[in-house]
Amino acid sequence: MRGRLIHFENRHTAFQPYGQRPNELNFSVSRHRLNQALIEVAAELPGISLHFQHRFETADFSGKTARIRDLAKDRVVSVPMQPMLATDGAGSSMRRQMSAQGLIRAGETDLEHGYKELSIPAGPGGSFRLAGDVLHIWPRGNYMLIALPNDDGSFTATLFLPNRGPTSFESLNDSKTIDEFLTQSFPDARELMPDAVAEFSAHAVGFLGAVSAHPWHSGATAALIGDAAHAMVPFHGQGMNCCFEDCIEFDACVARHSRSDGYSWAEAFAEFGAARKPNTDAITAMALENYLEMRESVADPKFQLRQALSLELERRFPRRFIPRYSMVMFHHEIPYLTAQRRGVTQDEILSGLTQGAGALSDIDFGRAELEIIAKLPPL
Ligand SMILES: Cc1cc2nc3c(=O)[nH]c(=O)nc-3n(C[C@H](O)[C@H](O)[C@H](O)COP(=O)(O)OP(=O)(O)OC[C@H]3O[C@@H](n4cnc5c(N)ncnc54)[C@H](O)[C@@H]3O)c2cc1C
Repeated sequence: MRGRLIHFENRHTAFQPYGQRPNELNFSVSRHRLNQALIEVAAELPGISLHFQHRFETADFSGKTARIRDLAKDRVVSVPMQPMLATDGAGSSMRRQMSAQGLIRAGETDLEHGYKELSIPAGPGGSFRLAGDVLHIWPRGNYMLIALPNDDGSFTATLFLPNRGPTSFESLNDSKTIDEFLTQSFPDARELMPDAVAEFSAHAVGFLGAVSAHPWHSGATAALIGDAAHAMVPFHGQGMNCCFEDCIEFDACVARHSRSDGYSWAEAFAEFGAARKPNTDAITAMALENYLEMRESVADPKFQLRQALSLELERRFPRRFIPRYSMVMFHHEIPYLTAQRRGVTQDEILSGLTQGAGALSDIDFGRAELEIIAKLPPL
């Protein structure tokens, strides 16, 4: 996807590129196929055995054993935690148990907005009924609809809405109200979603929230990684990438604590958490900020000028000024924390330069150069 296509209520559209180089694209991939590919690769590695349909239930941290239920045979097996690395996602049972037993401090924040998936079917012969190389957004202030292209010409649309209140999942509770809401709010999208009312009624509201925990381990017995340690709201499209970055850091930490008779797990876990948490905290905060940007700011002409100016400043000062979105999405060598900190400075510069300006031709680029050189060291 090359950028966002904003759909206004009057059916007009505006394109906002994600970046400005040919490789500055976001990829919309099948979650199912990705999971399958990862499992296939893991299965090829020596020393790996895969057990499906097994649910971790409880842990005895002092006895270092975990109870795992074999769902197919409905029996519980006791396994040693030597150690156990929990990758059980945002609702992690391991995290909740570590927290309940006072081994870590952990919290879950509810965004008070939820989401539902709807679908836009493919056109004739698997063709796209909207542009197939962009992320579509219908920003409506306190709520929004987005749609991402699939390989088969269809789109997965996601409606983000407050859980309670005048326009909310709670208030939209019969077919007529749902239909009216979708038709009034997203007229062009509604025409492409023949099953939207039935899907809206049938689909559960998805939870949106963030997870925070500290530390991410209990001695050498158990550790959290991925969403189990730091789930975030999905508005930066970085949740999974952040988990893959975890894996790279974790691998490096474990390698540094390899001994002739095994590994110093407690040290490796502690080092991993210390290295990653400042960065996962930064992307968690930026992901939340992006919700406001997507549902509200993208439709604002002032935001559009700031975006255009950001890209122009990157063209003029490519080693010093990189739009925050690009630092996060296209520069994996720039840690999330650095992107967040430089983003604050860049925001101040953009605010100063765009004050009273209506177009790029009004910008004082001499002042821009002085400020950028003074405040943004080369990357
Ligand atoms: C609406 C939405 C949109 C998103 N969009 C994006 C995006 O565009 N880009 C992006 O990078 N990220 C996105 N994400 C985030 C991404 O999905 C997660 O960051 C990523 O899947 C986390 O990987 P994980 O392996 O840590 O956890 P998960 O993928 O959640 O996997 C956890 C696994 O643990 C299993 N499990 C749970 N409990 C137990 C138990 N007790 N015992 C055994 N197994 C258990 C689950 O079945 C699951 O297989 C999105 C998330 C949401 C909710």
